[in-house]
Amino acid sequence: DKFKEGLEKTRDSVVGKMNELVSRYRKVDEEFFEELEEILIESDVGVTTVMDLIDEIKDEVRLQNIKDTKDIQPIISEKLAGLLEKQDETALQLNENGMSVILFVGVNGVGKTTTIGKLANQLKEEGKSVLLAAGDTFRAGAIEQLEVWGERVGVDVIKHQEGSDPAAVMYDALQAAKARNIDVLLCDTAGRLQNKVNLMNELAKVKRVIEREVPGAPHEVLLVLDATTGQNALSQAKSFSAATNVTGIVLTKLDGTAKGGIVLAIRHELDIPVKFVGLGEKVDDLQAFNAEQFVYGLFK
Ligand code: GDP
Repeated sequence: DKFKEGLEKTRDSVVGKMNELVSRYRKVDEEFFEELEEILIESDVGVTTVMDLIDEIKDEVRLQNIKDTKDIQPIISEKLAGLLEKQDETALQLNENGMSVILFVGVNGVGKTTTIGKLANQLKEEGKSVLLAAGDTFRAGAIEQLEVWGERVGVDVIKHQEGSDPAAVMYDALQAAKARNIDVLLCDTAGRLQNKVNLMNELAKVKRVIEREVPGAPHEVLLVLDATTGQNALSQAKSFSAATNVTGIVLTKLDGTAKGGIVLAIRHELDIPVKFVGLGEKVDDLQAFNAEQFVYGLFK
């Protein structure tokens, strides 16, 4: 139901347009497909993904010998779901026999801090001990903002002063997590894009500290992307995954966009699973991604 609520804008827009299309065209023909293609592209599904999707839908229409547009909706849903189900591993990978370290990356404003707070709360509710590392020492207010979340969900934050070396913060956080026998350490990082090379070097250094201190860590590198930025999110994903081994994506602010199709573009054009979606600003507005529920949320 969270998915249904969070996808309201996308559903109203995409499904509204599709219904209108179906009522305007009785017959499935080339023009119908062209307009369907446009609707999908407008919802940020991504041109490459749309082309492949339309091909698959056309094949199925031929196979089932469908003539009437009103019979096409189940095929569209099925093909969309199929695209998302290619996701192999959407569950969070945690180390069951010791500490897990999760590194969050992404540009400023995408919802990294909020996601860390929400996930800390979920993990705590599952009975795990959680610690936060304030690795964004660059953005003014980032440390305080993480502390506010820490207080809200009852989790400690390891921090240094603004402007200090994030690798040193990470080192301290790792020592504290070990000393306290913490189950999951969630690490914030900087997201300034003014100097991409510097940022990527900083992330690499932070990652090396984690790798050195905890064998097998980080267990996840989660890239946080803002769904409302559309195709921009896709290009951010490409830069970050070129610089570091991103293991999963958190797509935030799906509730704030009518272009939820970006989920499909990310899935199809990058080989990285969407693991969580943000569907609002509140603490329980983070949902583990589930393809079936997503498509259901869109069409039902
Ligand atoms: P950061 O700079 O990446 O750490 O971003 P923040 O966590 O500070 O988030 C930026 C803004 O986006 C804040 O106002 C958040 O409340 C808001 N935000 C984060 N996630 C979501 C979401 O899933 N839905 C909505 N509607 N807002 C969100």
